[in-house]
Parts: sequence; C-alpha cells; structure tokens
Amino acid sequence: MPVLTKSMKMEILQKLENKSTREAQRELSKLAPEAAMPRERQRIISEDCVEIKFVADKDLAAKLDEVRALAGPKGATMSMAELFAYMAELAAQALRVKKFGKKGAAEMATQPAANAFAPAATAVTTAPELTAGRPSRYIPKTVQRLVYQRDDHQCVACGSKHNLNIDHIVPLARGGPSVARNLRLLCFNCNQRAAMRC
Ligand SMILES: [Zn+2]
Repeated sequence: MPVLTKSMKMEILQKLENKSTREAQRELSKLAPEAAMPRERQRIISEDCVEIKFVADKDLAAKLDEVRALAGPKGATMSMAELFAYMAELAAQALRVKKFGKKGAAEMATQPAANAFAPAATAVTTAPELTAGRPSRYIPKTVQRLVYQRDDHQCVACGSKHNLNIDHIVPLARGGPSVARNLRLLCFNCNQRAAMRC
C-alpha cells in the first residue's frame, strides 16, 4: 500500500464509517488487493493433523460447488476436509494412470502406501505420526518429541544418553521419510558406525 497522507487516511475512514465489517473489508481490499489476501499457511496442530489455510477465488469456489454437485448425495454433506480428501484421491488416481499407465496404477492401488519403503525391523512404533509429504531433512518438532519419548531419551543401540541424534533408518537419500516409524535415537558414536555401514 502506498504511503498515505493524513487527508487520504481521513477519506478512507469516512468511506468505512457506518459500514459492516464485511463491507469495510471489501472497501479496504479495493484499495490494496494484495494486502487483503491472507497468505497460505500450514500449521501442525497435532501429531497427525495439519491445519491448512488458503484463500479460494470465485472460480475455485464455483468449481468446488460443481464437484459437490457431481459427487451425488454425499457431496452435499461433505465437510471441506472430506471434499478435499475426495478430490485428492481422484487426482491421485488420474495422475497415477498418467504417469504409470493403467496397469501400473492398478498394481499400485493394491499395495498399501506404507510399503512404499521397507521399514527396518527395529523401527516399530504404535504412536501416531506424520505421514504426509516428500522426504525432507526437516523433522517437525512434534515428531522429534515423539521419537525422544518412544526411545526413552537414549541411544537405541547402546543406551547412551549423551550426544543423541535423530537418525533416519532408511536414509533420506534413499527416500526414507522423516516420520517416527523411520526415525530412531542414536548417540554420536553409534550414528557414525551406522553411517559407515550404509
Ligand atoms: Zn550409542
């Protein structure tokens, strides 16, 4: 928004006078459309939930309504999250066919997603974990806490409580995800030894 003089500010305030919040927001968004547009954001709210916020423009809102209508009776009662889950599944199906062909996509659909990588025998957890996303060096704080708690704040190989690091059982380089199931606590020495074996 450009720097405003006092008279410009007065003019804006006069425009907003006696307007409802919604009307006032509309007036303000005309003055600075980019400022009125909240940024997209994702926030982890629990070990297995992420809050995703974004702004849908008129076209997207209309398309969402169209998908609801086409989905039949269940479309009308779907929550926004259910609607997106429904669309994500359809999109994934279509993209799998595009990428791997009909036969490859059908084979993938019969395999549970958890088999996408082979977890090591020691990597057993009953705790909930984040499973979304591509392999990333970043380990969310909630997942870190989970791994520390599960492994009793000690090296799973030697029991040491010093110089602990979170180690990827299937290395990142080989597509191992940063989820609790693929993570373990190792002390510096055991971590070095594990790295040498790879
Ligand atoms: Zn150790």
